Amino acid sequence: MEYDYIFEEVKVKPSNAPKFILNGNEVDIWDDALLYYHSKSISEYIQENLLRYEEKGVDPFAEIVGKAVEKEMIKTALMSGSNILFKGKKGYGKTTFSKSISKLLPEKILAIKGCKIHDDPTRPVCFSCKKKVLEEEEVELSFIPRKWIRIPGDPMMTTRQLIGGISIQKIKEGYDLDHPEVFTPGRVLKAHRGIAYFDELGSIPSALQTLLHELFEERQITTPEGDILPMKIDTLVIASTNPANYKGVSDIKEPLLDRMEQIDIGPPETVEEEIEIGLRNMSLKSGSIIPDWHLRILANAVRCMRNKNCRYANRIEVEPSCRATIKLFDHVRASATRKGHEAVMLADYGDKFEVVKLALKSRFEVDYETEVSKDEIIEGVLNDSIDSVCSSIYSMIPRNIFGEIIEEIARKRILNVYKTNGTLSVFASKLCRRKEELRSAVEITLEAIARCSGLIERSGDGIYVYKAYDRET
Ligand SMILES: [Zn+2]
Repeated sequence: MEYDYIFEEVKVKPSNAPKFILNGNEVDIWDDALLYYHSKSISEYIQENLLRYEEKGVDPFAEIVGKAVEKEMIKTALMSGSNILFKGKKGYGKTTFSKSISKLLPEKILAIKGCKIHDDPTRPVCFSCKKKVLEEEEVELSFIPRKWIRIPGDPMMTTRQLIGGISIQKIKEGYDLDHPEVFTPGRVLKAHRGIAYFDELGSIPSALQTLLHELFEERQITTPEGDILPMKIDTLVIASTNPANYKGVSDIKEPLLDRMEQIDIGPPETVEEEIEIGLRNMSLKSGSIIPDWHLRILANAVRCMRNKNCRYANRIEVEPSCRATIKLFDHVRASATRKGHEAVMLADYGDKFEVVKLALKSRFEVDYETEVSKDEIIEGVLNDSIDSVCSSIYSMIPRNIFGEIIEEIARKRILNVYKTNGTLSVFASKLCRRKEELRSAVEITLEAIARCSGLIERSGDGIYVYKAYDRET
């Protein structure tokens, strides 16, 4: 047949090249200005850029908080040209990591204009581009931005969606090489010269996983009509898998697993990292301040629910991820901003912690036989967390100051956090990073005294009552 080159590898060199046209002008793609943008493989780009970062001593994954060990493993795997499998529960940054890796690719690359898979002008993969570079005098080029293609692990996914539709039969019937019946790339082929991110690889039907293996290992595709076509797709495969899915029906097939390096991605190791992730990812970028004590109370509450030592641990089936922390921060800031608080107050958690429940309830699952409700778990965990932060604040109050504060409260009997000054605010101001936090600091100090000494009691928003006063009246 006349389209023999379809089955062959086509390579373009300066000696056999057509005229290349970019933005209407003829260009020499081997010129220094353009040389960087073609003929290199994805792993060559990644290795070069990785070394550039190493030389400068800059972290290429700076947007990822913590995870120093994981970052090292990723760099080593990428340097040796490996694909990566991120294993971990949802919400701990597997997707963010994969997007971060894509920054090691050039911001743009040179491609044959109009190609459905953005072919490299010097080594085209699709039929139509092979024909163009071999037979046409002029070939138009264009720059395309770096590619990060998400491929969701859908159990109902079809071959056409994943790999695409290719037919030699249709070419024989006289269809044009660009006709959709001849060539329609699926998601993997669209990731050519970029990153293919398989979100939940194990959920892709196992027959399709076999096709993927053929594509990546043999670098060919077998069409439904039985034709075997070379398909030298160049893509970095990054996949994710959730260990919770291991007990499910689907799994990642052995040959595919064998082509990937597994890196485990777990929750943030410290509360400081948890807080940093929460703050960086909030949608409410401005508004009331969230003072450190509130950040700790909320982040610790979420972390407690993941901990085996949590008193509800055996009730919690699915733990809350960092998204819970992020939304908690968002919601308390939203509440404080709406109420006109300069900084978050305890009232911003809601009378019965409704604001906290709003962020957490959909983000964890309990054992269905449990008698304890989600509401009770949230209330219990949050109260424990307030106790723990309060006890550390309580221990910071110097003895003589404590005496003075108690005297002050005993004298006034009822204290309004919003109108307090004296020794109490002098101590509270030491907790603050910014003066706008003062009312919140006064409140948490009083809450600490209430919870730890029992001498006073909270009675509504910002009101603390001296308990001895109750006994007198
Ligand atoms: Zn092409």
